[in-house]
Amino acid sequence: MEDADMQLDTLAVHAGRADLARLGVHALPIDLSTTNPLPDLLSGGDSYEALASGGTIPEGGSAVYGRLWNPTVARFESGLAALEHAETAVAFASGMAALSAALLAFAGSDGSRHVVAVRPLYGGSDHLLATGLLGTEVTFCDPDGVRDACRDDTGLVLLETPANPTLELVNIADVVEQAGDVPVLVDNTFATPVLQNPLDHGAALVMHSATKYLGGHGDVLGGVIACSEAHANRLRPIRAITGAVLHPLAAYLLHRGLTTLPLRVRAQQASARAVAEWLTTQTDVSEVFYPGLREDPSGALGTQFTGTGAMLAVRLGGGAAAVEALTKRVRIFTHAVSLGGVDSLIESPAALTHRPVSADAKPDAGIVRMSIGLEDPRDLIADLAQALGADATAR
Ligand SMILES: *Cc1c(COP(=O)(O)O)cnc(C)c1O
Repeated sequence: MEDADMQLDTLAVHAGRADLARLGVHALPIDLSTTNPLPDLLSGGDSYEALASGGTIPEGGSAVYGRLWNPTVARFESGLAALEHAETAVAFASGMAALSAALLAFAGSDGSRHVVAVRPLYGGSDHLLATGLLGTEVTFCDPDGVRDACRDDTGLVLLETPANPTLELVNIADVVEQAGDVPVLVDNTFATPVLQNPLDHGAALVMHSATKYLGGHGDVLGGVIACSEAHANRLRPIRAITGAVLHPLAAYLLHRGLTTLPLRVRAQQASARAVAEWLTTQTDVSEVFYPGLREDPSGALGTQFTGTGAMLAVRLGGGAAAVEALTKRVRIFTHAVSLGGVDSLIESPAALTHRPVSADAKPDAGIVRMSIGLEDPRDLIADLAQALGADATAR
């Protein structure tokens, strides 16, 4: 059976494991070699050349060196590529390493150093673009301002949906249409391939902070970009040159994480919906940001974004002081940044994840963001109720 014929849950368990039976193993092997024997001078040299210039190992060749290619990492890449309906994927040491490589590959040359970035974005991505650290120039815009923001030297359009932290949806196909020939990169970290496949809507590249839902247990950092083989050929040499490689132990954990991804995301989503609905009944909460509970002018809900997700945010009427009190009083939620793990987290975007974002684009200090985990939603609601000084049964 071809990957393309399998359902998501089957792919999550089986994709990227095609060579295991031949190796005579059932669980994913972890290959820690930093260097690899060369069959002979000629094929060793050819392998080096192929890998360093963005290709894959030639027939009968060698992986040469751990910064060029690793089989454990390559298995994770093909597993994730299958889930994202992509030809291939390229994994990196972190989400930010993945984004940096994309900027260098598509907006790192004199002919195209301009990036159009749809706000809001993850604080770190916004910061990387705003500082111009990698020699890029950025125009930030709204989802409907992409056409006007594109220039002759625009090399990449970047967007994130659902947006962080307000969970607004961006219509990918609409941005792709505005971008014309310019490749569009979608940060799919919040949605996961379970709820959204940006390549099906015309995006050229889909990026994940694999640290979040893909790993899913808060114990591994990683990043990955799924795309065509042609785009991967531009990303791999940058990874090889800059050295932002994913460690094989991390790749193992991420690949194992994929097997339960659909189950985790659906269960976390069901709880998030229950928590979000309860929050709408609370007088201390002036606004609940959760897809499906709000108007969706993008038209993406249900078609492009096929669920509602497990991230939510609320605005507290009491502002920053109320956020401070809530994050101090919670007992089941952990007051911490990051998201997408099996346990629930709560944080203030203005104070933490979006701290480096310029004042005009920074979220309101009264907003608190939650990543809903796998706990029983009744316990999460009870925890929020005691922390807000409210009644958990009032729902
Ligand atoms: C965390 C995050 C990133 C950055 O990923 P790291 O793995 O922390 O480098 C990028 N985008 C989004 C949406 C994130 O949540």
